[in-house]
Amino acid sequence: MVLVYAESPRGQIKKAAFEAVTYGKKVADLLGTSCAAITLGDNARDAGELGRYGAQRVLNVADSKLNQLDSQSLASTLAEAANQLGASVIILSHTSTGKSVAGRLAVRLNAGLVSGVNALPTVQGQELHVKKSVFSGKAIAEYAIVTPVKVLSLMGNAVRPESTGAPVAVESLDLAICTGRIRVKEVKTQEGRVPLPEAEIVVSAGRGMKDPSNWGIVEELAAEIGATTACSRPVADSHWRPHHEHVGQTGIAIRPNLYIAIGISGAIQRLAGVNNSKVIVVINKDPEAPFFKAADYGVVGDLFEVVPRLIEAVRKFKAAN
Ligand SMILES: Cc1cc2nc3c(=O)[nH]c(=O)nc-3n(C[C@H](O)[C@H](O)[C@H](O)COP(=O)(O)OP(=O)(O)OC[C@H]3O[C@@H](n4cnc5c(N)ncnc54)[C@H](O)[C@@H]3O)c2cc1C
Repeated sequence: MVLVYAESPRGQIKKAAFEAVTYGKKVADLLGTSCAAITLGDNARDAGELGRYGAQRVLNVADSKLNQLDSQSLASTLAEAANQLGASVIILSHTSTGKSVAGRLAVRLNAGLVSGVNALPTVQGQELHVKKSVFSGKAIAEYAIVTPVKVLSLMGNAVRPESTGAPVAVESLDLAICTGRIRVKEVKTQEGRVPLPEAEIVVSAGRGMKDPSNWGIVEELAAEIGATTACSRPVADSHWRPHHEHVGQTGIAIRPNLYIAIGISGAIQRLAGVNNSKVIVVINKDPEAPFFKAADYGVVGDLFEVVPRLIEAVRKFKAAN
């Protein structure tokens, strides 16, 4: 069996979980086995929806101790579930939760782990061969997992969620919850915006903005096209924007469908976090800016003229449609 851990904060299934289940079903088909999804926590409101994406069974461990990100208890619960269900492949999303759970889970299961995979594996005897990008996207490495139980974490946006089935009834799985040594004291959630790793559209700006007081046009453009805002590292380091917006090698790696870079030079450390975006649009006054090499569309011009005109064009387009 392929078991997919579907993240569902407050009962709401994450997009990354639909991707993981779509991927899990394809891996299960390759191995000639079934695919099950598991949610952890006492709110399984939308869990049945995972059936649409290929989960033949959806299981929930309904315990409020699993509502919070305590990677030790999440990992031990998943390990127990995997053992009980006889899962040979466990798939997680390569999110901050997935990343903190995958290693612990692999140790508990004596399993080989490849994190951040971005393509379907090939089956070679008892081995799974999987690929992932390495060295900030400059190379692709192929790994063979030779252990009987295998753990994979799937890069965001590597797979498009495919809704081909129907919802299934959620089964309750009774497991003894082992609480770890981590105590969650406070949870602060940001409401409203789609978090960067999940965003389909991202508008990002850099030092070319000159001053934080100029960010209004970036916010305005983002609001018009339903985008999440991001920034370059020096911008976050200078406290012009919050650190959770920092994208790149040392920040968040994103893979949106549309990424708009405004007044960002496109240094290699920057590109590392965005070069898997589907469509990249660059606005920069310097025609030699390195970002143009990675761009699908480029506008050479002063952002203080180009961005307001872009906002105006979007508004006109929306009004006419
Ligand atoms: C180990 C390491 C890790 C790093 N990790 C990251 C990372 O994760 N993310 C990251 O972003 N950086 C990272 N950096 C920093 C990176 O090397 C660059 O310094 C940084 O990305 C530059 O930010 P920027 O493009 O906003 O600023 P700048 O390099 O100053 O570029 C500003 C750009 O704005 C353009 N511009 C200026 N005025 C206008 C205007 N009016 N209209 C249009 N365009 C204009 C300029 O032509 C220029 O291209 C890292 C560096 C190191 C050494």
